Amino acid sequence: MSAMDRYEAVIGLEVHVQLATATKIFCGCSTAFGAPANSQICPVCTGQPGVLPVLNGRVLRFAAMIALALRCEIRRRSIFARKNYFYPDLPKGYQISQYDRPLAEHGTVDVLCDETMHAIGVTRIHLEEDAGKCIHAAGGDSFVDLNRAGVPLIEIVSEPEIRSPQQAAAYMRTIRDIVRALNISDGNMEQGSLRCDANVSLRPRGEQGLGTKTEVKNLNSFRFVQKALEYEIERQAAILADGGQIVQQTRLFDADRGVTRVMREKEEAHDYRYFPEPDLPPALVSEALLGELSAALPELPTARIQRYVDQHQLSLLDASELNRERELADYFEAAVAAGAQPKRAANWIMVELLSRLDDARQPSNVSPQHLAGLLELIASGKVSGKLAKSIFAKMWESGESAEAVAERENLFQQSDEGSIAAEIAAVIAENPKQVADYRAGKEKLFGFFVGQVMKRTRGKANPQLLNALLKKQLIGEGPSLD
Ligand code: ADP
Ligand code: MG
Ligand code: ZN
Repeated sequence: MSAMDRYEAVIGLEVHVQLATATKIFCGCSTAFGAPANSQICPVCTGQPGVLPVLNGRVLRFAAMIALALRCEIRRRSIFARKNYFYPDLPKGYQISQYDRPLAEHGTVDVLCDETMHAIGVTRIHLEEDAGKCIHAAGGDSFVDLNRAGVPLIEIVSEPEIRSPQQAAAYMRTIRDIVRALNISDGNMEQGSLRCDANVSLRPRGEQGLGTKTEVKNLNSFRFVQKALEYEIERQAAILADGGQIVQQTRLFDADRGVTRVMREKEEAHDYRYFPEPDLPPALVSEALLGELSAALPELPTARIQRYVDQHQLSLLDASELNRERELADYFEAAVAAGAQPKRAANWIMVELLSRLDDARQPSNVSPQHLAGLLELIASGKVSGKLAKSIFAKMWESGESAEAVAERENLFQQSDEGSIAAEIAAVIAENPKQVADYRAGKEKLFGFFVGQVMKRTRGKANPQLLNALLKKQLIGEGPSLD
């Protein structure tokens, strides 16, 4: 029996999301990414003596939105707390966070993985400020950039209810899709707007208790979450199978080598000495605000996926593929609104559109209305399915409508019986030997004749019409040229 047949993985994620406010959480400094070092700082976010933080109202609003979306209980008076630790990028010597009375608790995220919906519990959501950044230069010098200090974050802590690395990646993707649907974060993982600490332990299958966990810090892509957890599960399983014990540790993922390494052990764990932040009043969430936010909550990605299945009869797989990015789903809906048959539109988007985009969020060169127009031309038999692909390619280049491209390039399907019959007759006249063979029973040659006629019509003959006419003419029923 392999180790993984004996053990079950237990995973809980702590996801940090940077909120897309224009200014920081406790001061008016800009949160824009990529500015020159220390160009977006002030006495508050650099922790000068005597300054007072003031909560940015938008931060609370955004955090309440995600708390509602994750079906949490929202605390009307949540309390800020100081989390004390020393680090060069934290000039105050503490981070303002929330501790025993966080903004929200007891929520759920619906995560679609392996075509099954998993309800993963959310333990809590709290507000906090980000720290600055240390830059260790090649020559051995280190620098501190405080632009990021005081950027608003929420931390979403899950229950240990995730059961596989793949599910963990799907959970994180779901969180990203939700914050993007709510427009409260760009969810940009490369820029660190979304990152996660992954906690994992193993236990014998069938058991209910929790084993000793390790935590892998600061994972900033779905793939890394999955890879780090896969590695960590293998590592723990090998130790347990050997009769060893897991040591509670914080580890780091080395993406280049695909391994995790110890960062610190439990004995070195911080005692943060949390205490209520004396400089900030409780964060108040009124009934009126909750009412307003609930009423304005947009359709969430999971609900949208389900709606595509119910309303448009798409498969769960296609529906989730389209909802992989909000922009793609919006495109699909615009095409359907312009008259496109949903299943066909979905296929064209997933095959022709996605193969041309580096990123599914990129705008398409072919507008959804133009895609609907192309599908209409195919449905009405005015262009063939085969030529439609090259029409689409040209639409992509020029941004024109399907009609305009087909017109200009003379690509409309030929559905005129007389002219197709004439082409067939010409092919028959040119190939007497093949005709004789066909008539003698070599039916395989049918394809040859189809090919010849298509060649003469540059692929434009309506295939159904061509087949029917060709059959008749080959057995000598059709019009002949002599
Ligand atoms: P810590 O105090 O180490 O931060 P928490 O109890 O706050 O631990 O939990 C942090 C995260 O770890 C949560 O997402 C939680 O679900 C998860 N977690 C806690 N215990 C375990 C365990 N034994 N195995 C896997 N995950 C766990
Ligand atoms: Mg932790
Ligand atoms: Zn500032």
